[in-house]
Formats: sequence, C-alpha cells, structure tokens
Amino acid sequence: MVVFQQHLDRIYKEIIALPNTGKVASYIPELATVSATKFGIHLMDINQNIFSNGDSQEKFSVQSISKVLSLSMALQCIGENVWERVDVEPSGDPFNHLSLLELENGIPRNPLINAGAIVIADILVSQLENPKEDFLKFVRVLANDTSITYDKNVAKSEKETGFKNYAAANLLKSYGNLNNDVETVLDFYFHQCSLHMNCAQLCDVFYLYINRGKCKRDVAHLNINQIKRVNALMLTCGFYDEAGEFAFEVGLPGKSGVGGGIVALLPNKFCVATWSPALNKKGNSAKGMAALEQLTTLSELSIF
Ligand code: GLN
Repeated sequence: MVVFQQHLDRIYKEIIALPNTGKVASYIPELATVSATKFGIHLMDINQNIFSNGDSQEKFSVQSISKVLSLSMALQCIGENVWERVDVEPSGDPFNHLSLLELENGIPRNPLINAGAIVIADILVSQLENPKEDFLKFVRVLANDTSITYDKNVAKSEKETGFKNYAAANLLKSYGNLNNDVETVLDFYFHQCSLHMNCAQLCDVFYLYINRGKCKRDVAHLNINQIKRVNALMLTCGFYDEAGEFAFEVGLPGKSGVGGGIVALLPNKFCVATWSPALNKKGNSAKGMAALEQLTTLSELSIF
C-alpha cells in the first residue's frame, strides 16, 4: 500500500528547511501581500482518502489553475467547437507572451496561456446567462462546497494593473477572435483567476480529472474523452515554458498559478495540491515543484 501520509510528512520537513529562492508575484499588487514562507500540501486518492501537511487549509488566489476549470465548462457548453478558436500546442513562451498570437493570426497556442484563457472566457461570457455566478456555481458543485468565493480585492487589483491582458484581449479582438467587448471578457477572466481556495478544496474540485469525469459525489460532468484532452493539455501546457521541466522532474499532468498553487494528478490514482507563494523565474512555485518531484520519486508513481 502507498504510504502517502509518511511521504507528505517527510516532504514537508525537507521543503520547509529549503532556502526561499523564489519571489512572490507582485505584478498583481494584492498578491504581494502574502507571506513567502507559507507551504501546504494536500493529497486525495481515488477512494477519497485525504492526506495533508502544513498550510493546506489556508486559502490563496488560485489564478491560472482556474483556466482548467473554465476550459472544462466551455467544453460542457460547446464541446469540440472550442478547438476552432484555440489551438492545443505548447507555446514554449511565458504565460502572458503576445508575439505568437500575432504571428498566428489571433489563434492562441493553447487554452492555458493567458490569451487562450481569455478566448475561453469569451466563450463562457457568450454561453452563460450570469457568467460570474454560473462559473462560481460550477466550481462549488464540483467541490461540493458552497464556501468557495472570488476574492474581489484580487480581481480589482488585477483589473487596475492587467495591461498585458488588455493588450492580449485587444489583439484577439482585432483578429476577430473575441465576440464580446474587451472589458466584459476581462472582468470575467479577472474574477475567474481570483477564486480563493485552499489545497484541500483544489483536490476536491480536481477529483473529476482522476475519476473519469465524475466529481466526488459520483456525478458525471465531463466525458472520458474530454478528460483525456484536458489532462493532456495540463501535461503539455500547464506550466508554460516550464512544461518540459515539470514533466521531466515530476511526470504528472498539472497546472500552476501565480498565487503559488500547483495541482497535479495521476488518473485513477490521486490528485495533489501544493501551495508555496514564492515563484521561480518562469512563474511557477519553486517549492511546490520541488515537493511534487519528491512525491513522485518517493512514491514511484507518475504517468511514466
Ligand atoms: N491572472 C493572472 C494573469 O493573467 C494569471 C497568470 C498565472 O497564474 N500564470 O496574469
């Protein structure tokens, strides 16, 4: 039997002792208020047994981790038509890079970089009656937890300084790949990114990606083909220009956010979330990556 709790206890001790090499994101001013020394880890196995250590119950801004959830909701709404507006290739570029978008005529490389997620936000704004409320409800239903909310201060803070996202949205609009107005789409996108959750809640939500599309209450939300596609995108695009490194070191599909969270998963086995706000140069949590490398090494469990 896999002894997850022992692994997490060992990982916690070792990670806490490491020097803090990364930096807390400050380009969204509200994120800079978080302590760099936080570290939490939480794991849920396919039988819904849970294991944790550190600050796993403390909420933080999930940021780009939310892109997996908005993509999933867009797939629910319009199915394969999503792929007419966004590609499925790794970008090899930072999450907010714009040059490829221009070279490739307004079709973002994938839905997990900012430009791609903004197109997905546009789809949801078109499809949903009350986009912000409906998206939050979707996340709450997946987690079976009505306490999940947006952090309005983070959304506002990003709105005030999100110049690159305004640039991306305007470029998309100029290429005809944004149907709604820039302000409305970005308001939705900034709220989506401001989801305020802890590691345990992230595992609750991401359970469906290890359980063939069924949430913790065994209700189907995505079909097995959609799960295959979303998990493939997490593996190839979930860490931007560090996706190769994450596959090499950790060997799991996953998604990071600039709030310092990472979710990673092994289909049919477990999902795990880490939180450590100090980011490496590529914008991924430095200690989170180190912790997950240790987890797959100690447990000898990865997709490879
Ligand atoms: N909201 C952030 C942004 O658009 C998300 C980036 C991230 O988490 N990598 O810049």
